[in-house]
Amino acid sequence: MKKTRVSVIHREHIPGTPGSYDESALECVYTMLKEAVDAVGGLRSVISNGDRVVVRANACWAAKPDSGVAADPRVVEALMKLIREEAAPGELIIADRSSIGADTEEAFEISGVGPAALRGGADRLLPLEKDERITVQIPDARALLSPVHLPKTMLEADTLIYLPKMKVHKLTNITLAMKMNQGSLDWNEAILNHGPDMHQKVIDLLKILHPHLSIIDALWPMQGQGPGSPYPEDLIKDFNVIVAGKDPVAVDTVGATIMGFDAWHEIPMLRGAEVAGLGVADLERIEVIGTPVEKIRRNFRRGDIHLIGLHPKIDAYMGRACDGCLHFTRTGLDVYLANPQSLDEIEKVTFITGRNTAVPDQLDHSPPKRYVFVVGDCAEEHKDKGIFLPGCASTSMHRTFFVGKTSEQILENYTDLQPRGFNLKEES
Ligand code: SF4
Repeated sequence: MKKTRVSVIHREHIPGTPGSYDESALECVYTMLKEAVDAVGGLRSVISNGDRVVVRANACWAAKPDSGVAADPRVVEALMKLIREEAAPGELIIADRSSIGADTEEAFEISGVGPAALRGGADRLLPLEKDERITVQIPDARALLSPVHLPKTMLEADTLIYLPKMKVHKLTNITLAMKMNQGSLDWNEAILNHGPDMHQKVIDLLKILHPHLSIIDALWPMQGQGPGSPYPEDLIKDFNVIVAGKDPVAVDTVGATIMGFDAWHEIPMLRGAEVAGLGVADLERIEVIGTPVEKIRRNFRRGDIHLIGLHPKIDAYMGRACDGCLHFTRTGLDVYLANPQSLDEIEKVTFITGRNTAVPDQLDHSPPKRYVFVVGDCAEEHKDKGIFLPGCASTSMHRTFFVGKTSEQILENYTDLQPRGFNLKEES
């Protein structure tokens, strides 16, 4: 039986940090990348002379390089250099669309991803929200039944290389190569994807945007409350691993295994992609070359989207709320929980989510000391109890930074994050 090849390269030590490194660090990472890519066929097997090459690299948010939220600039710079030295692309582009609420150009700059790419030899940076969008009907889709709007430059690229950073994601357990396609959608479509069927949507997208080469950057991976955890202990420094392969499903399967997951049973997008014929998620049919997985495997802390028992000042009535509202609400709360003294000036914050949720008749909503948030369309029956933040997969608490704000200020911020065509002021 012919197996799919995935390479894993580990180093005990890599000089420097993502935000501060010198030539010796670059050389070290360059060699790791070369070993990893050569083991699965080499760059020349995916890039022909004159190709337009698009490399997707996590820019995520405008977070400093050593926060570990975005791609490691050491990897970005070394990969650009490797592509320039080993192949002869006609154009070399670094592309991404930052997470919801963020500006990709700013994220490229602050994260160090943009400057590193240009130093390494990229011709240009492409914030995907600025690219032309092509309407695509995904054939035989299982979740994205309506047409989606995908970046023209990616659809027309001769070679697509995905460079995900290894992170736990609170909704999907992992965010690796396959999940990068979530960032190929525009914000509005991406927001609406944050539900229990996100795994299936990522599989649907892989039918259209299927990278020729996937390289996982696991130099400083993230566990726990990813993809943008504010807890310093969620950043695993000096893990120093690169994973590469031509089959993104197999690459992610090996990546998930290194993170301590049972890839087949815990990550539906992987087994679903295999069943759909998009790649291999069965470890028995993957040949791992390089560092044995057992040698570096570590149990990454799982993400948590629940709102119960987080802090004495936080009450939650979750009812039957699903992942979308819980994910965004927890993301917003994590910013405070990572820095609990930030809650000193409030007395209580209460969340109501989900359909048919039992809630006490009397709840005290009196900002800026006591807040009640009614999150998501499902909880609309309680909207008069506090600040109603409508939407499905409501982005309510995501970057709302409510402490110290009036209801009006919170609503103003929230309106900015709503999907296309939605206007909270007109609705209220
Ligand atoms: S509005 Fe309802 S269905 Fe939509 S994400 Fe929230 S809880 Fe789930």
